[in-house]
Amino acid sequence: MVTTHTYDALVVGGGGAGMRAAIELSDRVRTAVISKLYPTRSHTGAAQGGVCAALGNTEEDHPEWHAFDTVKGGDYLVDQPAAILMCEEAVEAIYQLERWGLPFNRTPDGRIDQRRFGGHTANHGERPVRRACYAADRTGHMILQTLYQQCVKRDVRFFNEFYVLDLLRADDGRTAGVVAYELATGELHVFRAKAVVFATGGYGRIFRVTSNAHALTGDGPAVVWRRGIPLEDMEMFQFHPTGLARLGVLLSEAARGEGGIVLNRDGERFMERYAPTIKDLAPRDLVSRAIYQEIREGRGAGPNGDWVFLDISHLDPAVIEEKLPDITEFARIYLKVEPTVEPVPIQPTAHYAMGGIPTDVDGRVVVGADERVVPGLYAAGECACVSVHGANRLGTNSLLDLVVFGRRAGLSAAQDALEGSLAPLPEDPAGPTLAMLDAILTRTSGDNAADIRRELQDAMFDLAFVVRSETSLTKMREILGGLRERYARVAIGDRGSIYNTDLMEAVELGFLLDCAEALVVSALARTESRGAHYREDHPLRDDANWLKHTLATRREDGSVELDYKPVKMGPYVPMERKY
Ligand SMILES: Cc1cc2nc3c(=O)[nH]c(=O)nc-3n(C[C@H](O)[C@H](O)[C@H](O)COP(=O)(O)OP(=O)(O)OC[C@H]3O[C@@H](n4cnc5c(N)ncnc54)[C@H](O)[C@@H]3O)c2cc1C
Repeated sequence: MVTTHTYDALVVGGGGAGMRAAIELSDRVRTAVISKLYPTRSHTGAAQGGVCAALGNTEEDHPEWHAFDTVKGGDYLVDQPAAILMCEEAVEAIYQLERWGLPFNRTPDGRIDQRRFGGHTANHGERPVRRACYAADRTGHMILQTLYQQCVKRDVRFFNEFYVLDLLRADDGRTAGVVAYELATGELHVFRAKAVVFATGGYGRIFRVTSNAHALTGDGPAVVWRRGIPLEDMEMFQFHPTGLARLGVLLSEAARGEGGIVLNRDGERFMERYAPTIKDLAPRDLVSRAIYQEIREGRGAGPNGDWVFLDISHLDPAVIEEKLPDITEFARIYLKVEPTVEPVPIQPTAHYAMGGIPTDVDGRVVVGADERVVPGLYAAGECACVSVHGANRLGTNSLLDLVVFGRRAGLSAAQDALEGSLAPLPEDPAGPTLAMLDAILTRTSGDNAADIRRELQDAMFDLAFVVRSETSLTKMREILGGLRERYARVAIGDRGSIYNTDLMEAVELGFLLDCAEALVVSALARTESRGAHYREDHPLRDDANWLKHTLATRREDGSVELDYKPVKMGPYVPMERKY
């Protein structure tokens, strides 16, 4: 049975970006949020370190310095007008959260406290600056709860544990709605609306070692990509330097912001060699690569020599207790290490997707080099690419991106919903989704989804991680071809309709394969090194040929076509990235 619902606007995803958009929408039009998780379980709630804005509360700071750092941090692949706008709107966005009751840590005189974070500097790189507002090391949790309260206050209608599996578009290209699978019943629902905002988060689960939650499987990007919308800069995936060894569980950069340092097996503070000015507070791509280099040159620790250490044991225990309580607990629980007295084994972990669904600064999805607007379709948060993070995101700029561009997407989608009309549904709107699910449900034997997923994650970790090359990426593309063939025969044990998580995990695996493919094909073509994308066969940045965004599109036959569009420049002229 298929149920049809009609709203003015839909938000797909109940994380920070989705709920921020829903707040604006629900003030203006009838809005529903469709989320595969309960909203307060979204990954935004796992964010630890902070959300930045040049409030200048503890020392001099300016939005312009923030914009400079964002553009430089992104290795100049950032669209500069978007970054400047984000940094300017950041200040009001933080005060808005404060007015909604977010319990930020305070300075002794009662203002929002701020701390240091990688790549955030005063006066264009002179010294680290305190720009990250925070609530201990639970900033994301506080943001998510605060936004949820505002949604409840506005009576936003939530459809929880509903998985959006398809985007509906009318023949004239307008957005008509989405198709969702209800986990509790196995029923399909067609949702019609005049505007749809995708805010489905990241896809770090394509890698074996990742800080990302299980649900981060790239559903939004994959769903729109299957409907012919390109994905931008997918090769730009961030590896965070300080994941717990082997597990990938994140130890926030706040640890280094508060004075933590990274050490090699000899106890050497090696970042002094790689970034003499800001050392351990260099951006993530640089620190991850430095760790890789240390390991490669035999200075790694652990049984396989593939870790280094994060040391906070020299910090005042009161600071650890007050500002870093959660991450010290993670080290104790998961590694049985006591961070107040000994260094914690760490390794780079897959963390954040800079690429995603291409949008303008109002969240409108735009396609092609000439940025044609897809009527009624919006994206915000980690699944979108505005692009403010370019080739490498600075820490604390993502939570900021959610509230700034979540709000803007909500506002422009509301405008659309007020002025527009419902687009006609395609014939048999749930048909393709039903056929996809039935194919999996009726297969009595075939390949195991968990095996395919494990092989995908292992291979991506070995071949498309911190360091890549033509050889490794070509091999990865071949492996993906094989995994796809096996995925076409995927079978599951549970054929029921009540809480069939087996079925949804098999569907999510298909989304992971799509995201991995877009990443690998885009990375293979980009014969330079920029930000998080490091090609050992092309170690230098090549502005003459590659100062442009990648657009990967899926052709009818399933192959991937690449196109490019110019980076929107501004006041900051690309220079060598030294710290
Ligand atoms: C451990 C960790 C720590 C971090 N710390 C920081 C930090 O300190 N500062 C910072 O700026 N950034 C940080 N980040 C990054 C930042 O938290 C994320 O980029 C951001 O929270 C993503 O928010 P989002 O709203 O885009 O997605 P999410 O919060 O991931 O929400 C995605 C939503 O989409 C829904 N969804 C997904 N697929 C479907 C589907 N098919 N159908 C229906 N719903 C769907 C989910 O249910 C969920 O509600 C951190 C990330 C991690 C993993």
